[in-house]
Amino acid sequence: MIALADCNNFFASCERSIRPELEGKPIVVLSNNDGCIIARSNEAKALGYKMGEPVFKVKDKLLRDRVHMFSGNMALYRDISEKIMCILSSECNAIEVYSIDEAFMDFTSVAAAEEKAELLRMQVLKETKIPISIGIAKTKVLAKLASHIAKKHSRRGVFKLYNKGLIERALSYYSVEELWGVGRKQTQFLNDKGIFQASQLAQADESWLRRHMSILGVRMARELNGIPCFELQETRPYKKSIMTSRSFKHELGSFKLLHEVLSNFACLCALKLRKQNTRAKKLIVFIQTNRFRSDVKSHYGSLEVQFPIATNDSIEIVKTTYIALDKLYDKSCSYKRAGVIVSDIIPDQQVQLNLFGKYDVEKRTKLMKVYDDVNRKMGEGTIRLSIQGVENKWGEKQAPISFGH
Ligand SMILES: [Mg+2]
Repeated sequence: MIALADCNNFFASCERSIRPELEGKPIVVLSNNDGCIIARSNEAKALGYKMGEPVFKVKDKLLRDRVHMFSGNMALYRDISEKIMCILSSECNAIEVYSIDEAFMDFTSVAAAEEKAELLRMQVLKETKIPISIGIAKTKVLAKLASHIAKKHSRRGVFKLYNKGLIERALSYYSVEELWGVGRKQTQFLNDKGIFQASQLAQADESWLRRHMSILGVRMARELNGIPCFELQETRPYKKSIMTSRSFKHELGSFKLLHEVLSNFACLCALKLRKQNTRAKKLIVFIQTNRFRSDVKSHYGSLEVQFPIATNDSIEIVKTTYIALDKLYDKSCSYKRAGVIVSDIIPDQQVQLNLFGKYDVEKRTKLMKVYDDVNRKMGEGTIRLSIQGVENKWGEKQAPISFGH
């Protein structure tokens, strides 16, 4: 089973999400040079504005209708998109982020698919203020149709296109050009052969399709008949957070040793961020005593620190870890477990380096690149920060556990 989540009027919804006072008001989003309409809220659609319409043609009407106009703010849309994709991916087996506002989800082992989709829809709405529609069906092509039905004809914003009668009705309602994956050329060809409705394509003879439309035509028809031909192209959205932590064989009491351990964890997190070309906005450091010992003082401390600018710089992350540990550390305790988490992860390109002057980000980015290059060529650990120490003093040889979630 496949579910397709599609954000409604995405760019317009994003603008509204940060200006709740625009609820119920018409909104249009304009292309880069403010030339054309590239997104419309439902209210703007109802007033008759068309997608791609040049602004100069409707300028007076826009003013008369008191339509709120915005120049496209891609950074905002990407940010919100990432949040939504993270929510969706945490609730399904696999996800294919198909575009900035659409994702296919693997719902194969989901028992109550519709209920699940409704919950997801509510969660996305609550956390991002973006309304989404979810279509559920056996194949991608049908799921795409289902999401369209969910958007246009369902109050709940969720539609499962599953039983035979429903599918037949939907296929005779939609024309071939409205199908996902059917382009203008194919539409023209099919129309020339007298095929207009999706239902006609579904019933077309396979060998005829193979001869005239190649394998793509065959696959389209099969998908319409509920036989999956287009697989989910799994994409991994950025990990929400990366954690490096471990339990120690021997409890650690000394601040210096704990700091050394955590510095190593911080460096691993930073390296992972750099490997996936991302930066983190937030750092969380935690230390914990042995929960199973009642004979010693117990303590769990965790501290969250916001970076002034998203970073993947080992030196900065280690420094910040030191500051956090200094606040958390209780010298009357011995610690069994500790960890470093970096979160609120964003792609490198999203960081506007020149706007912030805390330290020379560009120079440090280059330094980190040299650092990674040498370690890649000469072996991990060839260059280390002195605080990382030269040997593993805290127990087994096994590397710290590091994973994202
Ligand atoms: Mg959309």
